[in-house]
Amino acid sequence: MAEVLVFVDHVDGAVRKPTLELLTLARRIGDPVAVSLGNGAADTASALAEHGAVKVLTADAPEFGEYLVAPKVDALQAAYEAVSPAAVLLPSSAEGKEIGARLAVRIGSGIITDAVDLEAGDEGPVATQSVFAASFTTKSRVSKGTPVITVKPNSAPVEPAAAAGTVEALAVTVADSSKGTKVVSRTPRESTGRPDLTEAAIVVSGGRGVNGAENFPVIEALADSLGAAVGASRAAVDAGWYPHTNQVGQTGKSVSPQLYIAAGISGAIQHRAGMQTSKTIVAINKDEEAPIFDLVDYGVVGDLFNVVPALTDEVKTRKG
Ligand SMILES: Cc1cc2nc3c(=O)[nH]c(=O)nc-3n(C[C@H](O)[C@H](O)[C@H](O)COP(=O)(O)OP(=O)(O)OC[C@H]3O[C@@H](n4cnc5c(N)ncnc54)[C@H](O)[C@@H]3O)c2cc1C
Repeated sequence: MAEVLVFVDHVDGAVRKPTLELLTLARRIGDPVAVSLGNGAADTASALAEHGAVKVLTADAPEFGEYLVAPKVDALQAAYEAVSPAAVLLPSSAEGKEIGARLAVRIGSGIITDAVDLEAGDEGPVATQSVFAASFTTKSRVSKGTPVITVKPNSAPVEPAAAAGTVEALAVTVADSSKGTKVVSRTPRESTGRPDLTEAAIVVSGGRGVNGAENFPVIEALADSLGAAVGASRAAVDAGWYPHTNQVGQTGKSVSPQLYIAAGISGAIQHRAGMQTSKTIVAINKDEEAPIFDLVDYGVVGDLFNVVPALTDEVKTRKG
């Protein structure tokens, strides 16, 4: 069976969920070979093997941390040349997309970004994308070179599938041309203790209807009862009620969780663009004519200040 390279996203050896989802998709089109770089790369091997990696290529070098993405592209290119894979899959993070795009240019291949599904096809893998503010679903395949495909988080289930996961050291030479942009400082983001917005299985978002930063704890309480991330509409973010990093939509983050709860959000096209591919959508809005109700699975017409706390209490009661 053809091998499929999977670029591993991990934090000091802890593999992040989107990579495990990529392994599920990679197994549909071939034998996954994981490429794990940086500090703790070798520690990723057991998790990757448990989820189907037949081989884990690892490399660590100070350059991976000292410069922006180019040294990682050198490493992925080295893996590509060693393996001659049928496809290269990366997570659709900002970094994953940049690495994928640079690799595609270097190897003269086409690239598909932000895929939400992937299946085997007679002429290569076929990717599904949700495009034009989620108004259309397209299926496409790369027609030139080895397909490079980035996949959005939450596009596939995490499925355990034990495989050999043989660890091999990847020989990497970082080119001088890859050292053009040096990282001069890092500031860790303050942790909220909540899951990352783009990776969370559940997202609870608040909009202008939340009516002030002082009311966002109502949204946060529901999110915390569900183990969810907190999102916000641009109106709420522009008003200074919640950080810009939490904006969902065309000019914010794209999320595709199992469950998206929108409270006090009207459902403008630019907001939909960032959440329409969520598996189950619930809206709470006091206006029964609000456009968000056109795309929901469950809609509650009501005041969020009554509905959201009641929902939070109910979730807590059921969880015991
Ligand atoms: C180029 C461009 C890019 C944009 N990008 C984004 C983007 O990335 N993300 C984004 O979100 N928007 C974006 N917008 C803005 C977008 O067009 C909308 O203005 C915005 O999404 C509206 O946010 P909202 O739904 O919170 O507010 P509103 O449209 O004002 O809706 C508030 C809703 O809350 C309801 N409500 C009020 N009080 C209550 C209550 N007590 N209980 C229940 N419901 C209540 C109201 O009935 C109403 O439906 C963009 C716009 C442009 C032009």
